[in-house]
Amino acid sequence: MKENQDNKMDKIVSLCKRRGFVFQGSEIYGGLKGTWDLGPLGVALNNNIKREWWKMFVDGREDMYGLDAAILMNEKVWEASGHTGAGFSDPVVVCNACGTRHRADHVLKENGKTGVDGLTLEQFQMKFKSGADIICPKCQKRDWGEVKNFNLMFETQVGAEGDMKSYLRPETAQGIFVNFKNVVDSMSPKLPFGIAQVGKAFRNEIAPREFLFRVREFEQMEIEYFVEEKDWQEEFEKLHLDIKAWHAHLGLKDENIREYEVPENDLAHYSKRTIDFEYNYPGKGFDELAGFAYRTDHDLKSHEEASGVKMRYTPAEGVPFIPHVLEPSFGVGRAFTAVLAEAYTEDEMGGEIRTYLKLPIHLAPYKVAVSPLLKNKPELVAKAREVFVSLKKEFGNVAWDDNGNVGKRYRRQDEIGTPYCIVIDFDTLGEENPNLKDTVTIRHRDTGEQERVHISELISKLT
Ligand code: ATP
Repeated sequence: MKENQDNKMDKIVSLCKRRGFVFQGSEIYGGLKGTWDLGPLGVALNNNIKREWWKMFVDGREDMYGLDAAILMNEKVWEASGHTGAGFSDPVVVCNACGTRHRADHVLKENGKTGVDGLTLEQFQMKFKSGADIICPKCQKRDWGEVKNFNLMFETQVGAEGDMKSYLRPETAQGIFVNFKNVVDSMSPKLPFGIAQVGKAFRNEIAPREFLFRVREFEQMEIEYFVEEKDWQEEFEKLHLDIKAWHAHLGLKDENIREYEVPENDLAHYSKRTIDFEYNYPGKGFDELAGFAYRTDHDLKSHEEASGVKMRYTPAEGVPFIPHVLEPSFGVGRAFTAVLAEAYTEDEMGGEIRTYLKLPIHLAPYKVAVSPLLKNKPELVAKAREVFVSLKKEFGNVAWDDNGNVGKRYRRQDEIGTPYCIVIDFDTLGEENPNLKDTVTIRHRDTGEQERVHISELISKLT
């Protein structure tokens, strides 16, 4: 079973490369570990995921405000948030036998140890010193160096003099916190309300791996939802349901999602409750897809103390106070991987094995492909172009496909998840049967079934 699943991930990665979804970053120079580039179809799927998220969490609600903060921020932001210290470091350990650098917590977990997440650096050091039973996942030996803290932020200099330090942001969340006052002053929101942001984040991961799962440059979709302290549990439950609805909207099956309630002794010091939403990735098993944390008033309080600027909400009656915050945090790349894993399907059609992506229609890179039955018949091509142009004007993501025969086109479109293929044939021209004039066939990806539809009905049929 595991072997099949490993194999499934390999097939997905190879499909992604072959069909223009995902390429290795800087590939012609041998790549850059932990970076991937999205090809034409990948950027379409990725944008669809982000657009649907924005529709559901921002445009679809009255209590959310969008934001797009700068990636580079004053270094004081990261001091106040605790990212420059040990708080945003991973414990790293080198295997003296094979020279591989590992994350110490991952090695312990792979050795079956539990209660690992809340350990201090000293506790990690103790475990590896006394750990005759901890073997290297790569070479199976037991010869460890000293565990050290490694900060995950990419540092950079700002300006020609390079006299000011900054960082590529490791999360989008702090951009939201530092703009809390700006949003309150400009929009006068009523509590509870949220600020949402989608954007790039960068982490110098010790061991980037598993395709898009752990990379050094990725995108996040994050919300900081501000509440009164007394309401946090009630609002937590509501957002919890919204997160589940989002995963269903991505087409992820319930059985492939698991919620991990982070035990109290593993919680970050400021968090009173955290749930990790895990997905059952092929060849990997359940691991984090998204996080959901109650972060108390920790972040706004820290920024108020460090900046001297009041980060308060003033109720209609009463005194200004620092709201508490709930944080749903989603990785776009992990959603992208989960969507592909869920959609990847092999079945038998017409006596052949076919591979197709059973993507939800709202996520598919192309909604529909249009083609003339034969490429060398100008009258068919002209009619097909007419249909293509009108659908493209309406939907935008419409493919023109006249390569090879119709069977090959269907396979190709199946493989990239296009839900519908439209073919313009001689009947469309009404040459033999005038009743069929201006009708086309629509072929459905999942069933392979075809139906005949009048061109004038196409837009409503596909909407
Ligand atoms: P992990 O424990 O897997 O390292 P995390 O708990 O550090 O993740 P958060 O800081 O909560 O992750 O970030 C929120 C979300 O951002 C994660 O749920 C994940 O979807 C995404 N994410 C975090 N780090 C990476 C990464 N290196 N590559 C891809 N996505 C990431």
